[in-house]
Amino acid sequence: MYNFNYHRPTSIDEAVKQYDEAEDGQYLAGGHTLIPTMKQRLSAPTDLIDLSGIKAMQGITRSDDGAEKMLQIGALARHEEVASSPIVKSMVPVLSALAGGIGDAQVRNRGTLGGSVANCDPAADYPAAVLGLNAQLVTNRRSLDAEQFFMGMFETALDEGELLTSVHFPRPEAAAYVKFPNPASRYALVGLLVAKTNDGVRVAVTGAAPAVFRAAAMEAALTDDFSVSALDSILLPAGDMNSDMHASAEYRAHLCTVMAQRAVAAIVAQDQARARQVTSEVTSESTS
Ligand SMILES: Cc1cc2nc3c(=O)[nH]c(=O)nc-3n(C[C@H](O)[C@H](O)[C@H](O)COP(=O)(O)OP(=O)(O)OC[C@H]3O[C@@H](n4cnc5c(N)ncnc54)[C@H](O)[C@@H]3O)c2cc1C
Repeated sequence: MYNFNYHRPTSIDEAVKQYDEAEDGQYLAGGHTLIPTMKQRLSAPTDLIDLSGIKAMQGITRSDDGAEKMLQIGALARHEEVASSPIVKSMVPVLSALAGGIGDAQVRNRGTLGGSVANCDPAADYPAAVLGLNAQLVTNRRSLDAEQFFMGMFETALDEGELLTSVHFPRPEAAAYVKFPNPASRYALVGLLVAKTNDGVRVAVTGAAPAVFRAAAMEAALTDDFSVSALDSILLPAGDMNSDMHASAEYRAHLCTVMAQRAVAAIVAQDQARARQVTSEVTSESTS
C-alpha cells in the first residue's frame, strides 16, 4: 500500500471540500473493496476521506414522500444494520432478507449500502433491489432514478466527487429476491428480484451480465399471468450474459429463469399466507 493522507470529516460539505482539494481523493465507506485494491496497489489515492463520522449519512427512517411512504436508508448503513432493522423488516422485508444474504458476518458488519451501490460490482446484490424496487438515489447534488444510475460494469451516473448520501425505497405490494451464490464469496452468480409495485411487475437481475438490468420479457409474461409456469418458456439471451471461470453465459441464462421462478413461487406463497390470515381474522370476528 502506498502512503496517503487520512481525513475524517463530520459533514457532507466538509467531505466534498476535502475531496475537491485533494490531488486524487477517494471516499472510504466500509473499505471492503477499496482497502484490498489499495493493498494490491491497484488503487493509489493521495487522500482517503473516511465517511464514517458523517451523521447525516447514517440511519434508517420512514418518510412521507407525497402520497407514498418511503424507506429512507443512509448510504453508510451497514448490511447487518439493514438486515436486522425492524423498520426495514416491516416496510420492505425483501431488503432485510437480501442484506442478510450478503457475504458473511464480517462482510455484513463492514460493507455499506452506499459503498456497494457506488461501486456497482456486476455481482453485487443491492443493485437488484435498487432497480427492482424503483428506488431513488440521493446525492449531495441531486436525486436520481434507479434507471439513470447504473451505467455499466463498475460504472454509475455519479460524477467526479459526487457523494451518494441516501437511498429511498418505495414500499412494494410484494417482492422476493433469490440468488444463486458463488460458494466461496457469496456474491451473486445470478441474483433476481421480482416485485409487484404501483408501477406494475418489475424484474431486476444482477450477477448475470456486466451490470444490473430489467428483464422485460419476464415482466411482460408475469403481467399477463403472475405464475411460475408463465416463465416456463422464457430464456434470456445468453449473448448478453457474462461468462467466466465460475459459470458460462448459457448457465447464467438458465439460472435467470430458475431464480425468477423461485422468486415468483415465494411471492405466490406470501400472497396465500396473507389471504389465509385475512380469512381467519374474518372468521374469528364473526364467531366472537
Ligand atoms: C469477501 C467478500 C465477500 C463479499 N460478498 C458480497 C456478496 O455476497 N454480495 C454483495 O453484494 N457484496 C459482497 N461483498 C461486497 C461488500 O459487501 C461491500 O458492499 C463492498 O465491498 C463495497 O462497500 P464498502 O462499504 O466496503 O465500500 P468501500 O470499499 O469503502 O468503497 C467502494 C467504492 O465506492 C466508493 N464509495 C463508497 N461510499 C460512497 C458514497 N457514499 N458515495 C460515493 N462513493 C462511495 C469508494 O470511494 C470506493 O470507490 C463482498 C466483499 C468481500 C470482501
